[in-house]
Amino acid sequence: MKLYSTKNKSHLVSLKEAIFRGLPEDNGLYMPQYIPKMPADFITNLPRYSFQEIAFEVARTLLEGAIPEADLQDVVSKAINFPAPVHTLDYHKRVLELFHGPSLAFKDFGARFMAQMMSYFNRDEDRELVILVATSGDTGGAVAAGFYQTPGIRVVILYPSGKVSPLQEKQLTSLGHNIAALEIQGTFDDCQALVKQAFLDASLSQTIRLSSANSINISRLIPQSFYYFEAYKQVADGKTPVVFCVPSGNFGNLTAGLIAHRMGLPAHHFIAATNINDVVPQYLKSGQYLPRPSVRTLSNAMDVGNPSNFTRMLDLFSSSKCSTWNNMTASISGYAYTDHETANAIRQVHRQYHYTIEPHGAVGYLALEAYQQQHPDTIGIILETAHPAKFLEDMERILQQPIEIPERLAALAHRPKIATLMSTQFSELKSWLMEYYA
Ligand SMILES: *Cc1c(COP(=O)(O)O)cnc(C)c1O
Repeated sequence: MKLYSTKNKSHLVSLKEAIFRGLPEDNGLYMPQYIPKMPADFITNLPRYSFQEIAFEVARTLLEGAIPEADLQDVVSKAINFPAPVHTLDYHKRVLELFHGPSLAFKDFGARFMAQMMSYFNRDEDRELVILVATSGDTGGAVAAGFYQTPGIRVVILYPSGKVSPLQEKQLTSLGHNIAALEIQGTFDDCQALVKQAFLDASLSQTIRLSSANSINISRLIPQSFYYFEAYKQVADGKTPVVFCVPSGNFGNLTAGLIAHRMGLPAHHFIAATNINDVVPQYLKSGQYLPRPSVRTLSNAMDVGNPSNFTRMLDLFSSSKCSTWNNMTASISGYAYTDHETANAIRQVHRQYHYTIEPHGAVGYLALEAYQQQHPDTIGIILETAHPAKFLEDMERILQQPIEIPERLAALAHRPKIATLMSTQFSELKSWLMEYYA
């Protein structure tokens, strides 16, 4: 497998290089040079495959020998070790539950696969790899759990003191082992600036092998294509068109669906669902892409004003035959909703279907409902990107009743927090890293 930069298609790198670099030097994004098709009988035989077998077959096809099959088998079995079940609201509306992993969000798939791939490609190095991550909450929890006890890799998580929820903080600070947490007395932007400075510091990167677990890393996108096939397997009836509705922020999840589509996923259409941070639905309407600062909403993991994966979407739909916009709108429809509409949808789904959907999924529910007004004879799959308990206060306020907390999250409350309190001075971070990792 070779990957190019969206800014320079003739500059090809190996999968290993794309994973360790994260971003090409020209600031484009890595994309597979070629997206291969699954064999036709794979789709016909889907019902006979387990989720792990689907993941392995898709990975094997896409990675084209970038790692030996036995090792890939090992990566997949360690990374994809929890289910992605589809819940039926009614015949036309299904919910793909992507929250059965350790941090209760779909980001677990990406983080776990990235951890296993990095560990594999790092196996012959004699020095440990130290991964620096700045987090405002969500990503850090998935990364911490994903890399937990991964041989040869240590993770340092920087988070803003007092600005993540108590349970989120426990997800970052209670694991121990190869995961260290730094509680920074500043904002998320300060954490990000510190990480950036660390990468730019020559003496630091000479002494310590540093890498990042950036959200645009291609190894986070690849495993997200697996569950589209898994979901299709669970709902396909052989005649009704299947559409996927994806609550979106940086559009990684949707991009992974588009890659699965290129590989032969029989998806009839995609729906991009957003909150009022709707630059992509606006683009789909007008053909104009106008990034703008994000606004805080209920579905805050989708508060993105300039989605990083939009570049990849443009790349997938660029063609010599017709305009990129025409191409994209043939495959994707966009819808956007306010917090008020989202809260009403959470109540409606609870009343009508006795199902608890969280704010991101509720935005998806509304978008699917709107799409199906025009296209009633479809089976719509809403990607439910997180567990409702992750948004406990908002959910309980909206539904006026207690939300059940899964055991694996509740257990965290009793574990001790271990974090190092630190100022926003880079020198402090540098000497700490040198002391523990040099
Ligand atoms: C990250 C996240 C999203 C947005 O996913 P993208 O791939 O960035 O579009 C949606 N919902 C939840 C719960 C998330 O954590």
